[in-house]
Amino acid sequence: MVAPMAAPEADRSARSPLPTVVADSMPMVSTQDSALAEHAGDRAKARMRMVERLQAQGVASIAVLRAMATVERHRFVDPGLGSQAYEDLSLPIGWEQTISRPATVARMAELLLDAPALRLEGTAGASAAAVAGRVLEIGTGCGYQAAVLSRLVREVYSVERLRALHEKARANLRPFRLANLHLILGDGLLGYADGAPYAGILVAAGGETIPDAWCQQLSVGGRLVAPIVVPGSQGLQQLLMIERTTSGLKRSFLEQVHFVPLKSGIA
Ligand code: SAH
Repeated sequence: MVAPMAAPEADRSARSPLPTVVADSMPMVSTQDSALAEHAGDRAKARMRMVERLQAQGVASIAVLRAMATVERHRFVDPGLGSQAYEDLSLPIGWEQTISRPATVARMAELLLDAPALRLEGTAGASAAAVAGRVLEIGTGCGYQAAVLSRLVREVYSVERLRALHEKARANLRPFRLANLHLILGDGLLGYADGAPYAGILVAAGGETIPDAWCQQLSVGGRLVAPIVVPGSQGLQQLLMIERTTSGLKRSFLEQVHFVPLKSGIA
């Protein structure tokens, strides 16, 4: 059920520092239509303002900032919500699910990239533009976070349990032609054994517990970042980071978060 996303696209931003102007990577507008072209320019500016805000809020990884400057978030939400796409908001994507806030996407990506298994050898941590390794995302949703991750790591496997959203993500992502992104329709509670072991596992929905399969599919030096419901809290969630070291699993509880619920089975 795994299908790569068509032909590879050269990562034009692989070597340069954070761009001051980001050209739309997927120009859908005719250059003859100046109104539409202006609109696309406004979106690019809004995206750069989003990136500047993320940087001001403490996102330090140039690789993450550049990935978020490149991926056009407005293409992952309904056209009517496009004007809000670069605000720090979670937005509805249908089927009672939401696209995560940009700050949350950036935060989780930064945590993942700091995994020893994902750091480029010979470079200073995660600030290198391209990072080696394989990552599993649980909860593809509309595909935005998967697209950001695909700009950061070698291979991304993203599992979604809702067929309709899996199809929607596939349609959203098709024009980006990300050959290293594999979309899977499946129950993420099982992880995805075919791509294991993973240097990073990122979970975009909050459950009560961490399934054993996730930890088993994490490589030594790998990190899992997942929202987890705080016991007895009536639904409050906290971000949990699990690192696999040579001596076992190390857990760190981080800030409070708010994600849609993790559910079981395919629907
Ligand atoms: N990263 C996504 C966020 C999607 S919201 C984005 O950028 O849009 C979380 C998603 O997790 C929802 O689409 C929901 O259907 C999915 N989900 C919940 N439980 C799941 C499970 N067990 N396996 C796979 N996906 C799951």
